[in-house]
Amino acid sequence: MTWLITGGAGYIGAHVVRAMAEAGERTVVYDDLSTGLAERVPDGVPLVAGSTLDGDRLARALAEHSVTGVVHLAAKKQVGESVDHPLEYYRENVEGLRVLLEAVTAAEVPSFVFSSSAAVYGMPDVDLVREETPCVPLSPYGETKLAGEWLVRATGRATGLSTASLRYFNVAGAAAPELADVGVSNLIPMVFEKLTENLAPRIFGDDYPTPDGTCVRDYIHVVDLAEAHVTVARALQSSAGHDLTLNIGRGEGVSVREMIDHIYAVTGYHRPPTVTPRRPGDPARVVASADRIAVELGWEAKHDVEDMITSAWAGWVRTHPEAART
Ligand code: UDP
Repeated sequence: MTWLITGGAGYIGAHVVRAMAEAGERTVVYDDLSTGLAERVPDGVPLVAGSTLDGDRLARALAEHSVTGVVHLAAKKQVGESVDHPLEYYRENVEGLRVLLEAVTAAEVPSFVFSSSAAVYGMPDVDLVREETPCVPLSPYGETKLAGEWLVRATGRATGLSTASLRYFNVAGAAAPELADVGVSNLIPMVFEKLTENLAPRIFGDDYPTPDGTCVRDYIHVVDLAEAHVTVARALQSSAGHDLTLNIGRGEGVSVREMIDHIYAVTGYHRPPTVTPRRPGDPARVVASADRIAVELGWEAKHDVEDMITSAWAGWVRTHPEAART
């Protein structure tokens, strides 16, 4: 079995490659290196530099490496950017997926795992978001992920491709400092950045209808998320005809204020946060029901928020040594 991991040089993709290797699966990375880093690809794993919009290159990679399954993570993922550049997001995330599915079905690759997002749910008005909760995405990014799920499912039904769409909740942490997320567009690195600059971390609104007034999210360790991919990949390969849609979360809500307190405990910084106005489009609460994957595939997350912050901090200090406190 050989899995082609698109986006395998990215933050999440590199963790999937590593988890697959640890489970004894062969992988090939396909990445355009626009945000991915070649040094994240482990020795012995082939790296094909290419875009998912390049059908010929994809077809060659699938044939040359005798690929038997694809995990598709290559995508653009900034919500705010997607609002300003919707066409770019539809091209990369929807057209790129369409071209990839064309190559996958032409090569008769039997299994396909699609990286989706809790952003498909938009502003869910439920305590725990289940897979059947209505999807009303609020951004072009979320729309491209929902359209991607439709494309994947329709292709599976038409061709027999066995498919799974994994809806990631808030991914954090790292398996090793050199694999940490280098972006600064999520809560944990944004707080790290402020603390490193000796500035107050920001809370985007504390007047939400939540216990402490700040937004509640379901944070999932990237190591757990990567292991979920291995579990799902194996399920797809063990029998044909799968059409799975699965939340990947922990089913535990943590508020922004609670996250900042955890960050203080891990980092030793204690500068009080500043409350700023709400960030447009932020839902008050998005927490997964993690039941379906537990019942259907026996998978559940093992790592808590402290593991996520501790490992993310080790990665941050590696690239920002000035942040370390003696
Ligand atoms: N957030 C915040 N301060 C920051 C960065 C994020 O209060 O400096 C909040 C944000 O409003 C949201 C939560 O933290 O409620 C998680 O934000 P993130 O961008 O990490 O993920 P999202 O859930 O928006 O995809």
